[in-house]
Amino acid sequence: MPRELTLAPRLVKLTNRTGVEVRRTLPHKELRTIGPWCFVDHFGPTADQDAMSVAAHPHTGLQTASWLIAGEVEHRDSVGSVQVIRPGELNLMTAGSGIAHSELSINESQPFHGVQLWIALPNAARHQNPHFEHYEGLPIARLENLEARVFAGTFLNVTSPAQYYSPIVGAEFSISGEAQVPLMDWFEYGFLVLSGDVNINGQSIDVGSLHYLPAGNEKVLLSGDGLVLMLGGEPFAEKILMWWNFIGRSHDEIVEMKSAWEMRDGGFKEFSDRIGGHIPAPELPNVTLTARSNPQ
Ligand code: MN
Repeated sequence: MPRELTLAPRLVKLTNRTGVEVRRTLPHKELRTIGPWCFVDHFGPTADQDAMSVAAHPHTGLQTASWLIAGEVEHRDSVGSVQVIRPGELNLMTAGSGIAHSELSINESQPFHGVQLWIALPNAARHQNPHFEHYEGLPIARLENLEARVFAGTFLNVTSPAQYYSPIVGAEFSISGEAQVPLMDWFEYGFLVLSGDVNINGQSIDVGSLHYLPAGNEKVLLSGDGLVLMLGGEPFAEKILMWWNFIGRSHDEIVEMKSAWEMRDGGFKEFSDRIGGHIPAPELPNVTLTARSNPQ
């Protein structure tokens, strides 16, 4: 199993339309998943006018969770959702068998700062119909020197209303001082530093880095002043195949998903937005893709 480690982000260009780069910490060559969390992109803060402008593109086999620290994003999708998200709110899209969506940052008078997360769906839930949820007024849990806005699962007996399909937890921590945070020892955890000066178990962690704790820990010591995203869950038991915006289990499934997107079949039907156009799938590599789990 992976050991406690700090993952430094890599810079990834978000689309070919804009110059926007994001800091990606998952998947990482040393770690593919933390519980069902399988993709972590951290944007900004930036005053860039094109902070986020991602044209229609598909997803399968996963949920996307959008979380903002500053700015506003308009989400549109192929099941007809049109939803603006603001800081402290959650947009949760369950792709299931397939959905297409687009995202556009809309308030250029504010800096833009946020994260985009993917959650792998277990086999029993990955073929469900696509749907979209939006939550405001998420519950807050408090510890000495720490306030947590809970957007996934349960933390300190405070439960998010959002629907997930695997044992999971997700919360934004605002820390001021030193906090002993209780953990569930059958969960593994990642702590992404969003802003400020933060120490985790006595180690200073840079903004944008993700500190990983394997299962087996009953607590973590956080200190400093800043914002930290906690992502946790039971280690994901299934091997998954992530390719582009799809999660499947086999090469053939991925080929079918790519061709369905190209035909705008099934859940991938057209919808209108203020961006226009869509993102074509890249070419498949010339090798057979295989499903994988975390490095041993
Ligand atoms: Mn997307």
